[in-house]
Amino acid sequence: MKRRDFLSGAAAAAAMPAAAQQQAERKLAGLPPLKITGIKVIPTSGGRRYRWIFLKVLTSEPGLYGIGSASNHFQTHAVITALEKHLGPWLIGRDPMRIEDLWQAAHVRTYWRNGPVNNNVLSGLDMALWDIKGKRAGMPVYELLGGKARDAVPCYDHAGGKDKESAAESVQKSLEKGFRHVRVQLGNYGGGGFVPPKEGSRPETGWDGPAFDEEIYVDTIPKLFDHVRQKVGFGPKLLHDVHSHLSGINAVELARRMQPYQMFFMEDILPPEHLQWYRQIRSICTTPQAVGEVFSHPLEVTPLVSERLIDFIRCRVSAMGGITPVKKLATLGEFFGVRTAFQEGGENDPINQLAAYHVDISSTAFGIQEENAFPPSVHEMMPGCAGIRKGYLYCSEKPGLGIDINEQIAAKYPIDVITGGGAYPTDRAMDGSVVKP
Ligand code: MG
Repeated sequence: MKRRDFLSGAAAAAAMPAAAQQQAERKLAGLPPLKITGIKVIPTSGGRRYRWIFLKVLTSEPGLYGIGSASNHFQTHAVITALEKHLGPWLIGRDPMRIEDLWQAAHVRTYWRNGPVNNNVLSGLDMALWDIKGKRAGMPVYELLGGKARDAVPCYDHAGGKDKESAAESVQKSLEKGFRHVRVQLGNYGGGGFVPPKEGSRPETGWDGPAFDEEIYVDTIPKLFDHVRQKVGFGPKLLHDVHSHLSGINAVELARRMQPYQMFFMEDILPPEHLQWYRQIRSICTTPQAVGEVFSHPLEVTPLVSERLIDFIRCRVSAMGGITPVKKLATLGEFFGVRTAFQEGGENDPINQLAAYHVDISSTAFGIQEENAFPPSVHEMMPGCAGIRKGYLYCSEKPGLGIDINEQIAAKYPIDVITGGGAYPTDRAMDGSVVKP
């Protein structure tokens, strides 16, 4: 640019009203102004029993839209209503390019912030905005986050069985599929710690189902891993999810007893109500800890990371409010040497998986990603689903998140009628009291 052009440009800018200047800047960048013109909420079962909620954010540019995950399996209709009645009308006319500003404004829009429903709503919006920005730039979202910091995203597989022998065989199958990291469970969460229904010393009336017993669990799980290590050696990286079933000193004791099995990590050994016990775990052993699956506030993680009390940030991207907050958490982890292990299994959806992928592949703090494979009906409904091959996750490499949703197919798969409120099942102890999930 010649000096004369620069001066005349600067003088013109000074004289311009803010909106006109913004428009001029856009033109300089080759991008016309963009506005959000509406939203579509797309609930779908995916042809299975999922309760997925996708948000489509429509823009003033013909054909340009973004999609995000707002799925919440346990409060599904609360999220749908919050999107349709509260977020949608507020969004109309706003600039979708201003992701950070929109996230901040949407976050305080509800006055009371965070929590699962609010964050799922934010997540749907945030992922859709990153999708729009990527499509506009003609790049996958990871390019906007700094580009690939690794060639693909390693995932851990899920293995397990009803006893230690079948669990070890299951680990072997995961290794044969190409996974280096394998999570090993004995049946359902808490498996290995349940007294069978009607057995044991119970109150005269009340709970007669499977009864969780902390001390039995602490005794059983190390024996499981002793057997698995004997069968597969110390090459494979092994994980185990306690699903918050232990309290205080029992969690410390299990972490101590697991030390000889050189775990990749133990997941959620404590419930979010008792995070202070991580300090005690740290003081007596080096069994790595992954924490945060049920967190719904990014600041729950912060002291655990800054005091180096944990090793992996284990949040679900959509429960934290989308890509914008978790890329910040990943950066926080990077500074303190704590890695990411975003939660992705079970009832999670393909858009949330890809949101995790784009942060994973571009972050130095990445540790591991949970695997999740989807049935053919979902691949047909959602072209661009990520794929796992030989233990690594790959995206479609298309611009944005790299995935789309066929609304006609989604409409064929409505969410099943939710009976009993759709609640997460409750585990109980021998005396009938609630065990935290
Ligand atoms: Mg978990």
